[in-house]
Amino acid sequence: MTTLCALFGAMPFHALHAHEGHDHQTHAAHEHGVATLRVASADKALVIEFLSPLDNLVGFEHEPRSDEQRKAMADAEVLLRDGAALFSLPAAAGCQLLGAKLDSPWLQSEQPDHDHGHGHSDAHGATEHEGHADLAASYRFECTAPDRLDSLHVRLFDSFPRLREVRVERATASGQGAAVLTPAKAELPL
Ligand SMILES: [Zn+2]
Repeated sequence: MTTLCALFGAMPFHALHAHEGHDHQTHAAHEHGVATLRVASADKALVIEFLSPLDNLVGFEHEPRSDEQRKAMADAEVLLRDGAALFSLPAAAGCQLLGAKLDSPWLQSEQPDHDHGHGHSDAHGATEHEGHADLAASYRFECTAPDRLDSLHVRLFDSFPRLREVRVERATASGQGAAVLTPAKAELPL
């Protein structure tokens, strides 16, 4: 996560100031059906952060109470860890997923590289509050030809049909900007 912070921190990207404050939960509105994506690239590194109400991903926002709900959570985690499937990048850019991290109050799967010692209220933690809960995911890619990195096809809508809108903040070689993706327009120019 240090790398992620360093990368975003190095960007002159005002929209990411909330990230530096480690409290972007309070800045990103929790709206069912809507999620946030932050995409940043520098040199060969491409970092994608995804923040979503848990409802978009599993259909509930409480501790799983049944086998069915535990399975729904576990299934979502499997899909969410597969960053290479969720985010299609141009083959010419030669990108490889180096790591994916999930943070949510009731993850079913263990993450060897995740620090479980500090509960779920750490810097990037997705928190539970007022009957709502979020999930945060971060992905780190390395691309051998970053100059060919001209688009990102977001496949989150295919895996999570409850998701209807993804608000994107982008800071890449071509500059910074914002975009809104929908199932009908899931391709982001970089
Ligand atoms: Zn909610």
